[in-house]
Amino acid sequence: MEVFRLEGKVALITGGASGIGKTTAREFIKHGARVIIADKDSRTGPQAATELGPAALFVQCDVAAEAQVEDAVKIAMANYGKLDIMYNNAGVTGPSYPPSIADLDLDDFDEVMQVNVRGTVAGIKHAARAMIPAGSGCILCTSSIGGIIGGAGSHSYSASKSTVPGIVKSVACSELCKNGIRINCISPGPIPTPLTLAQIGLIYPGASQEKLVEIVNGLGQLKGAKCEEADVAGAALYLASDEAKYVTGHNLVVDGGFTCFKNLPF
Ligand code: NAD
Repeated sequence: MEVFRLEGKVALITGGASGIGKTTAREFIKHGARVIIADKDSRTGPQAATELGPAALFVQCDVAAEAQVEDAVKIAMANYGKLDIMYNNAGVTGPSYPPSIADLDLDDFDEVMQVNVRGTVAGIKHAARAMIPAGSGCILCTSSIGGIIGGAGSHSYSASKSTVPGIVKSVACSELCKNGIRINCISPGPIPTPLTLAQIGLIYPGASQEKLVEIVNGLGQLKGAKCEEADVAGAALYLASDEAKYVTGHNLVVDGGFTCFKNLPF
């Protein structure tokens, strides 16, 4: 018997036009949800919504601009009358890798923080405004192994991603808790999405796309497994479903043991 774990739910996924966000949108729809894909990319966003079918709706939104996040939540409410799941997933890595702290461009740093931190906080804030009157809801955020160990991203990226679990813990024990709203984050390991391939390309300039995919897939440590978008989508599905009804303030690391090992290959 098929089980629809998100039957009737409405989810908004930022960065939903590509990679982890798009795969999660597909998984949520498969389990009965309607999904708003909020992405700044006006080309891939509508394409993704078309591909995902009538349960998907694209809204153009730059998460670094609070008013656009607020509008995306309002569009979800206007179309579907509620917001059950908010997944703050949009992220950027910044242009610099390998990391030189002496050469760090603080304007680049600010840009990464604007998207990965400010964008996440804006998403939490406006989801909270929609969910508190309803007395229920689930907020998810994407952090990264780059927020747990050094050397797995630029300094700006690590700074931004290590901030996310902190915000999640802080907000978990805010008025959200009293209103039955859960908030959790997921820290994925390396997956060959456009974001990570661009970053790895800075370390291996001139390498072909196939070679870069091979390098990223080779970073996993768990025998016979590599980190895939579907692994993160599965974690998001669990956290968004009623099976996780007693889980809040948590950082679910999906990295095949990557952060348990001490040596990175570069
Ligand atoms: P991706 O490049 O496939 O997708 C990122 C999406 O975010 C794109 O559609 C892009 O247009 C959108 N986006 C970027 N800036 C935005 C903004 N300001 N407003 C709205 N949308 C914006 O990459 P992905 O790997 O799927 O990344 C999703 C999240 O996962 C990011 O937060 C990333 O840091 C995190 N993450 C990725 C990996 C990995 O190895 N792929 C590992 C750990 C964490």
